[in-house]
Amino acid sequence: MNAAPDPSARTSGTPVIGILGGTFNPVHFGHLRMAQELADALNLDTVRFIPAANPPHKDAPAISADQRAAMVKLAIAGNGTFVFDGRELHRAGASYTVDTLLSLREELGQQASITLFMGSDAFTKFDTWHRWQEIIQHCHIALVQRPQVRGHEHQLSKPLEIFLHNHYTENSDDLHQQPSGLVTMRQITALDISSTAIRHALKHGDSVRYLMPDSVFDYIRQHQLYQ
Ligand code: ATP
Ligand code: MG
Repeated sequence: MNAAPDPSARTSGTPVIGILGGTFNPVHFGHLRMAQELADALNLDTVRFIPAANPPHKDAPAISADQRAAMVKLAIAGNGTFVFDGRELHRAGASYTVDTLLSLREELGQQASITLFMGSDAFTKFDTWHRWQEIIQHCHIALVQRPQVRGHEHQLSKPLEIFLHNHYTENSDDLHQQPSGLVTMRQITALDISSTAIRHALKHGDSVRYLMPDSVFDYIRQHQLYQ
């Protein structure tokens, strides 16, 4: 006798994607390497780079959203796995991840496996995100360790510890079996690069070459950004 089909199970052939949201102010090798290593480790078809228009947790960036988006497009050009996704740029008001996921579900359907990428610094603040408990109903989460910012201990709050415990899986194959609901962690090459440090260096006239693709480096120079 055949077992009854699990209604939450995925049928094969539907997309398995990763998404990386961020301010990308500017995009750098930390973002790109994280996306590549997670795409490989989790066996993803595509990774969507989704720049935020109005990040709810940051002051409005001095660089326009279009310029940040242009740099992301340059950075991922030529990578067949990476895709630019501008849906947050044209949405009015603050960019909330939960809204982005609902919009992605409308496009990709309920069966697609969607994994949200997050650095450890972002995850420690995850329980302050808009409707954060709902997010895991719409996607998986893949966490990567980010080199510690000196003086900033990444301590998890009790709700986040419980959240992690309830959704954690070590087996990346699980992320292919269901469309959402799991959290996994992956070890990646540690690159201690941040947009903040890049903006700081540029402001002080230091070179940021080799921290990002040459195409992005050239764009920043041409447009005299972050001076
Ligand atoms: P800023 O310094 O302006 O906050 P950032 O370098 O942190 O910029 P974001 O656009 O804020 O870049 O990051 C988007 C996502 O990428 C976050 O989940 C963040 O944790 C992750 N990320 C950024 N840089 C790295 C890195 N070097 N290694 C791993 N993950 C990273
Ligand atoms: Mg950041």
